[in-house]
Amino acid sequence: MAGMRPTGRMHVGHLLGALRNFVALTEANDCFYEVADLHALTTKFERSTEIASDVREMVTDWLAAGLDPTRCTIYLQSRIPEISEMAVLLAMLTPVSWLERVPTYKDQISTLGQEIATHGFLGYPLMQTVDIAIMRGEAVPVGQDQLPHLEFSREVIRRFNHLYGPVLLEPEPVLSATPYVPGTDGRKMSKSYDNSILLADSDAATSAKVETMYTDPTKIRKNDPGHPETCPVFFFQRVFNEAAADDIAHRCRSGALGCVEDKRDMAKHLNAALSPIRERRRHFETKPALIDEILEDGSKRARAIAQKTLAAVKTAMGLG
Ligand code: SF4
Repeated sequence: MAGMRPTGRMHVGHLLGALRNFVALTEANDCFYEVADLHALTTKFERSTEIASDVREMVTDWLAAGLDPTRCTIYLQSRIPEISEMAVLLAMLTPVSWLERVPTYKDQISTLGQEIATHGFLGYPLMQTVDIAIMRGEAVPVGQDQLPHLEFSREVIRRFNHLYGPVLLEPEPVLSATPYVPGTDGRKMSKSYDNSILLADSDAATSAKVETMYTDPTKIRKNDPGHPETCPVFFFQRVFNEAAADDIAHRCRSGALGCVEDKRDMAKHLNAALSPIRERRRHFETKPALIDEILEDGSKRARAIAQKTLAAVKTAMGLG
């Protein structure tokens, strides 16, 4: 089980850090993928009307990346009112100090400002806990930076089971193989840093972004020896041009390879890898009704499970 906050179009960081893993997991598992539109409200409550189009864009990219709705369940969080109800119940036994010590809480407030310091934002990891527990999620694909969130979820679930009996499953993390993807400026690829290469970008736009990409700052002239291990261009060569990566690293270090030439080569391989995804995207972006239908069907399936879990939770608590 995994969820993602809809932030519109997905970038290559999402593809490598999450979506590839999402698709691979559907091969041998019964996977549930949540479009977490209630979570989007934590930072977008003043622009809530933008969320619907962000949902469509994100699901279009999920499908383009290879998620097949006949092999997994793709659903919309806000279509499952049981999630909100169970969040209220679990909130009663969750100490505020546990929420305050989740590392992203203070980090994000210092980045995004005090205006997001709301009750909803503080409770965000608790609602994530409910997202997982209500679907009876056993394994959650996460990046390294999300591990504290999952550990929080496990603690809350343990506390619930200790108080009311063994009703909820403790989820295990499934670490993504490529959790850290650099953006064009060398920092982590993120829309908020404006350093992303989008799945929806054209080949020309991708090449233009790669052309301006940050490289090893000590390699000023072509003949200067470079350090590929710290260069974001090389990161992408290693992922999308794996067979040639050792040779590229050797030629960079020896001064035989210049950054301009290497960037052109990397853009070519990146565009080739993204080409089938972009083709599928063009297909799905002309079919908004199909996206709505996929979410509708998936939400019905997910809701049936959520209703059963909530009923078990309320019985265990002696409610209803
Ligand atoms: S040659 Fe390639 S790997 Fe080496 S610093 Fe330049 S862009 Fe990076």
